[in-house]
Amino acid sequence: MRLLLVEDDSMVGESLRKALRQDGFTVDWVEDGRAAEVAASSVSYDAMLLDLGLPRRDGLDVLKSLRQAGNRLPVLVLTARDAVADRVKGLDAGADDYLVKPFDVEELEARIRALLRRQSGHAESVIRVGELTLDTASREVRLKGQVVNLSGRELALLRAFLDRPGTVLSLSQLEEKIYGWDDEVGSNTVEVYIHALRKKLGANLIKNVRGVGYMIPREE
Ligand code: CA
Repeated sequence: MRLLLVEDDSMVGESLRKALRQDGFTVDWVEDGRAAEVAASSVSYDAMLLDLGLPRRDGLDVLKSLRQAGNRLPVLVLTARDAVADRVKGLDAGADDYLVKPFDVEELEARIRALLRRQSGHAESVIRVGELTLDTASREVRLKGQVVNLSGRELALLRAFLDRPGTVLSLSQLEEKIYGWDDEVGSNTVEVYIHALRKKLGANLIKNVRGVGYMIPREE
């Protein structure tokens, strides 16, 4: 799950990025409104965490132009502006949720998970495909009831597939999900992680569609 964090307070930004990464999110962090617009139009993020008081372009304007451009990226507004009128403005401008600073990182993560569930149409936090389950809150993966240990990247890759069962994802789409700007991307690494997932979860779980990409088939 790749997030765009938009926050000009470097202490807040740094600590959020650290906490979210520790919990398995891929995080790109920008510190002004213009950079946020450029990032949101060039990468397909799973959600945006948006501060409102930003240099160069106000968060509300960023949100409005995003929606005007037809971008439906889930947006969670993080702000110190806790007046009811500001909250209403943010929601009317197209925000999906709202958190008033200071907030608890655990609550932020629970809200992100709820947003992602809504976006992908999962009603509960456990995603099931056949005998495989992924608990998106605890990040526990089970196959036939047995816990399977996955690395952070393997888990991010599995999540990308499970969010869109039946959809073929290209190597570059998969790369975009598991690497942020600051991460070094070696060659063939997505394929290496796919190989690892097949080893741990069964050779037939992830299908290769020759010349197109990879998928986990939708359940019959
Ligand atoms: Ca700010």
